[in-house]
Order: sequence, then structure tokens, then C-alpha cells
Amino acid sequence: MAHFKTGTSDKSSETDVATVLATTLLEAELYFDDGIQQCVSKAWITTQVRNWNAEVPELAVGDVVVAHFKRPGNHCRSVQTDRGIILSNLPKGQVSIMFQDDITQVIPKGWIEATVTRWSGQREKLAQDPGAGVDRPGACRPERSMPVAHVKEECVICMDAKPNGVIVHGETCHQSTCIACAKRLQSQGDPCPICREPIETVCKHHGQGP
Ligand SMILES: [Zn+2]
Ligand SMILES: [Zn+2]
Repeated sequence: MAHFKTGTSDKSSETDVATVLATTLLEAELYFDDGIQQCVSKAWITTQVRNWNAEVPELAVGDVVVAHFKRPGNHCRSVQTDRGIILSNLPKGQVSIMFQDDITQVIPKGWIEATVTRWSGQREKLAQDPGAGVDRPGACRPERSMPVAHVKEECVICMDAKPNGVIVHGETCHQSTCIACAKRLQSQGDPCPICREPIETVCKHHGQGP
């Protein structure tokens, strides 16, 4: 929460929610929810609404998050949130994110409401979680020190279809996407979204229950 500069660079009487992008000794560079970026005196900041760093210390590329997005036509923060995948961490507290509808946007980290899936570090936890890593007959088993293929409710790419696409690399495979997304990744030359191994072939997993 901070005061902002009005048209004539005077201090506003109201305050607005903003995300801190960077700070200097005296000033903070803020990204207000209406899309305006301003450098204001730190004294103008009235309240700290959220401490992002305390909640999510580090976002990794590939993390799935729920976040506000820029409304079409302007740079205002949306009221609704949508799921997206972190594409890259940018300097100044911003991230590049690809939303479910294939729209890529750069948003301040403060717009992220929650992380849904963290690939880094969480894999082992998921593997230990009973019921999370389900062994299905017919599913190929990892031979080496790969994490066990974790079968989720939905495709990690489109967040919609059942993850019936099996991505095969070497002697291991991962099942995290639908067959359509798996084929698209392969045709684009993209690696496996779970382990980043180059995709050798993709196939459809049959015999999956409802
Ligand atoms: Zn999909
Ligand atoms: Zn993989």
C-alpha cells in the first residue's frame, strides 16, 4: 500500500496497492495495480500488505502458479486469477508467465496468489506421499535414478485434459501431459516438462480408469 504521484508528481491523498520492483536507499520502484510504474519515496509506503519473499522464497521456471493477469487493452491487474506457468524470472521482481490460454505476460510477482505445483524440491515429497505416485500396470517404470512418474489429475501443460500422454526418453518415461500436448512438445523440439530430457517418442497411455 503506498501513496502515488498524481499528474504533477505531487503526493496523492489516497493510497493504492503496488508491488515493489526494486528499492534504493530513499526510493522504491513500485508497480501499481493499474499498470503504472513509479519511483516514490519510501516514506510514502504506508503498509506492507504481503511479504512475497517470506511466502515463496524462490520461484523456479516451470512452476505452476495462480496469478492475476493484465487485462486486455490496458495494464490493469485483473480481478480474476488464472493458472500459468513461470517461463522466466526477470529482474526487478517481475516474472514472465504463460497463462492457460497461451498468452504470455510479464507481471509483478505480487500478482501471484499461490503456487500450485513446484517442480523443484517437491518431486521427492510427492513420491513419498502415499497414493500420489500410482503404479499402474502397463506403465513403463523408470530404471535409473529418475523420480517416479507421477500421475496427476490433469495435463501440466493445458491443465485441462487427462494426462494420457507418455513421454519416452531413453529407458525412462514421464506421464504428465495429455497426448495432444505431448505431441506438440515433441514437434516443437521441447524437452520433457518433468525432467527436461529430450523427448524420444510419445505414446498414448491406455487402460486408465475414470
Ligand atoms: Zn494437455
Ligand atoms: Zn521426463
